[in-house]
Amino acid sequence: MSLSVFCRYCGQQISDIDLNCTHCGLKQNFTVVSSSPSRKNSEGVIAFIVCFLFGIFGLHRFIYGKTGTGILMLITLGGFGIWWLIDLIRIGIGHFTDSKGNQLSLIHNH
Ligand SMILES: [Zn+2]
Repeated sequence: MSLSVFCRYCGQQISDIDLNCTHCGLKQNFTVVSSSPSRKNSEGVIAFIVCFLFGIFGLHRFIYGKTGTGILMLITLGGFGIWWLIDLIRIGIGHFTDSKGNQLSLIHNH
């Protein structure tokens, strides 16, 4: 299934599988216009990847507005890996929220 997107240049509706606009032929950097129900889920996937790769430095906490605990995590190297592992699991099971209370989860939640 392809998503409906609009050409950045001519504004015509095109498919996200088209690398070039079918109307004006210009190459696209896609902006998804239809609000995707999996938006939160994809954010969770990104959060999980960031946490997995750089979570030991608290990067996921800096990104999602939890600067205070982010700094603490950076200093302690993710609580010597334990805190990092806990956060990784919390994102994985959907128990991690950003500073605004938005849930970040690897699993899709309704
Ligand atoms: Zn176009």
